[in-house]
Amino acid sequence: MDDTQLIERAQSVLHWRQLTDECVAGEVSAALLTSQGKVYVGVSISAGCGIGFCAEHSAIAAMVTDGETRIQKLVAISGDGKLVPPCGRCRELLYQIDRGNLETEIVLEIGRPTRLAELLPRRWQDLWAPAAGNDSKDGA
Ligand SMILES: [Zn+2]
Repeated sequence: MDDTQLIERAQSVLHWRQLTDECVAGEVSAALLTSQGKVYVGVSISAGCGIGFCAEHSAIAAMVTDGETRIQKLVAISGDGKLVPPCGRCRELLYQIDRGNLETEIVLEIGRPTRLAELLPRRWQDLWAPAAGNDSKDGA
């Protein structure tokens, strides 16, 4: 599946709608292609008190529900039709569900993929590595 086809899948669910006074869905949509060749889509939900979530998050949840974690390619589209990068929280989520997702192609420009590793160069878990000189084998 090429970038344009995946973008079309994301566009197919990009429909802004007011759900309640404080809740809007579909401001952003996302589509992801798994390593098994399946496509999952999702939309953002913006809700009061910060309890909403991103379109990528929604698509990832559908994929994990179906038993997959490894993503080959991911795209997200805003309501004005622009390709948008995943936010920091979604970048971290992509990494935490499957380390192999550092190789995921994030479609920000057709035909010129950006790997997740480029968008998430220093991972949170990296900070948990023992500090140099703090190893008990050093006898310090
Ligand atoms: Zn996000």
